[in-house]
Amino acid sequence: MGTMAQSTLNIKTDDEATGKKLPSHVKVAIIGGGVVGCSILYHLAKFGWKDAILLERDELTSGSSWHAAGQIHTISSDPNISRLQSYTIGLYKEIEELSGQSVGLHMTGGFYLASNKTWWDYLKRERSKARYMGLHQEWIDLKELADKHPLIDPKHYYAALWDDQDGDLDPSGTTYAFAKAAKQYGA
Ligand SMILES: Cc1cc2nc3c(=O)[nH]c(=O)nc-3n(C[C@H](O)[C@H](O)[C@H](O)COP(=O)(O)OP(=O)(O)OC[C@H]3O[C@@H](n4cnc5c(N)ncnc54)[C@H](O)[C@@H]3O)c2cc1C
Repeated sequence: MGTMAQSTLNIKTDDEATGKKLPSHVKVAIIGGGVVGCSILYHLAKFGWKDAILLERDELTSGSSWHAAGQIHTISSDPNISRLQSYTIGLYKEIEELSGQSVGLHMTGGFYLASNKTWWDYLKRERSKARYMGLHQEWIDLKELADKHPLIDPKHYYAALWDDQDGDLDPSGTTYAFAKAAKQYGA
């Protein structure tokens, strides 16, 4: 979801349930109040497009965003996705402070294990790329890993890559934080 309709739109429907009047014209109407739609609204307002509205058929986080496990990390075979993930993780504190809405962020750190040489090569490439992009991914000793996670038996693995931008958050709180922060910017 998070579809964006750009151009001046005529919006005729008022909200019969709440009696609230919708604006008759907007520059941008975003359809769907999941995390993507609310993030789009936030970014538009932050960078100056305040004449924007978000239309949600039910209530915010009615879709996938409510169900998400909320896992966050920066590892991805696509560098643009890694960069985007890192940018977004950096954004969570910003929207929490701006909105006063907790996003429930826990930066636990996380690891990726290589149980064969092919996967080890993949993690080596990932680490090189991450370091080039200024992200922190480090090899950690397998004994240290077993201390962090006692259920892991190090003898089955070649290497472990630690990502300090790994963790989890509350997806519903995050969606509301984006929406509230967007309002702070005048959306
Ligand atoms: C079980 C599960 C676990 C997941 N775990 C993770 C995870 O750990 N980490 C991660 O990054 N991602 C995870 N995801 C994926 C993540 O939840 C989605 O990528 C994300 O929530 C999509 O957000 P969205 O805003 O695009 O869509 P949605 O959250 O689905 O929002 C769409 C919204 O649009 C509204 N809508 C639909 N049609 C209309 C209409 N015609 N008019 C008005 N409103 C409309 C709906 O009511 C809904 O509120 C998980 C997903 C699931 C299901």
